[in-house]
Amino acid sequence: MNKTLPEVITDILTYNGSLVEPDDDGALEVITTQELSETLGVPEHARLRFSYDDAGDTVFASYGSDLFISLARLFEGRGRFSLARFEAPAPNMEKLSKTLPDRISFGNAVFRFNKAEVKDVSYLLLYFKYTALSDEKHEGVLPVLINCMNMSTMPLTGGSDEIIEGLKEVLPLFDEGVGFPLPRSIATESGFAGSQRGIGIFQAAYSAAAKMAQERLKNFIRSLERRLHRDIKRVYEYYGTLREETIKMIEQNVLKLSMGDLIESELKKAMKHKNKLSKAQALKDIERIELQYLEKKTKMLNMINEKKWDFERDEKTDKLLAKLDTIETEREWKVQDLIAKYALSIRIEPVAAVGIEAQTPVFHINIKRRLASREFPVTYNPFVRQLDDLPCEACFNPHGGYYVCDDKLHIVCGDCFKTCPACGKQYCTACHKDKCPKCRK
Ligand SMILES: [Zn+2]
Ligand SMILES: [Zn+2]
Ligand SMILES: [Zn+2]
Repeated sequence: MNKTLPEVITDILTYNGSLVEPDDDGALEVITTQELSETLGVPEHARLRFSYDDAGDTVFASYGSDLFISLARLFEGRGRFSLARFEAPAPNMEKLSKTLPDRISFGNAVFRFNKAEVKDVSYLLLYFKYTALSDEKHEGVLPVLINCMNMSTMPLTGGSDEIIEGLKEVLPLFDEGVGFPLPRSIATESGFAGSQRGIGIFQAAYSAAAKMAQERLKNFIRSLERRLHRDIKRVYEYYGTLREETIKMIEQNVLKLSMGDLIESELKKAMKHKNKLSKAQALKDIERIELQYLEKKTKMLNMINEKKWDFERDEKTDKLLAKLDTIETEREWKVQDLIAKYALSIRIEPVAAVGIEAQTPVFHINIKRRLASREFPVTYNPFVRQLDDLPCEACFNPHGGYYVCDDKLHIVCGDCFKTCPACGKQYCTACHKDKCPKCRK
């Protein structure tokens, strides 16, 4: 599990020489040094709370609080970008190379194992903060590990502690004012081919983090959609009833206007028949009136729906028709309000990066698709002690198997090797984004 904010703050404060004790209410009892108390602007003996409701002489410490922001001062000059080495025992290369066919497969291509070597490989551990804003706010930190040689990414759902604890010689790197994507120092010193490549690595990790955030927020997004549908349904029901009532009133009014005389004369006729001739004839007359009535009613309802007021109207009918318009406009406003209320924006920003070098086995494979082929380095991940998954070179967060594209032999995942719904052509989203190259849809 990822650490909670109180746990992270406990770690930071303890590391900086404080005594921290959690209490039963989820708050933290803290005794700091005088220096730390001045840096953070909190009393030397303080109680930190993480919920909005609890007041008293406690210090609010959740995301966005003064304390949370001032914690950044403890990291000035260190931590935001750093370089480290990771030492791991060498695995059995021969055994590993035999597992390649089990670990790697493509839906439309084959591969051959060429050779293996042990090399210095750079990884970048990036921490992204995501903020999802709608009628509620959700935030958290996503650590993403990306292999700088082959762009294979890994979500660290279990947190990054295991990696961080194994790091040796963490050298602080100072931001040279380049900021993110990457300071030049990381790009060159950690063995990245150049800063252009560094930017590509960062973009890949960012793209992966964006998809990972969506996955992590899945339940929240689902609940948003559910609440939006529920509220829209309520609006439709409410205005639907109003509309029906109004239409009924229009109907009565219009039919009374246009059929009042007719009904009267026909009824008179029917009564005459009833007295003089036969009951059967009288029933026939009444049936005819009913039919005419129904026909007129259907015609009128159609006209109302098509907004063609091609029937006899008096002032009362006009007022009712205007009311009908208002009902419909108001309903659309209400629906737009709801859509705005439940609209979701997700912001993702990088907060820290660690460039990590490790000596690890690299397995060179040759991927063959039709007549073309491509060399690709498959890496052994020393942190989790298994082969890195292949990257998806479109989304960097692969799902649903792997495919190889015809044009550039990109490795893309099942989600990114799309079938065009219009013409059925399969295409690579690393080459063509979201537009089918054949029919441009
Ligand atoms: Zn993909
Ligand atoms: Zn198409
Ligand atoms: Zn491609």
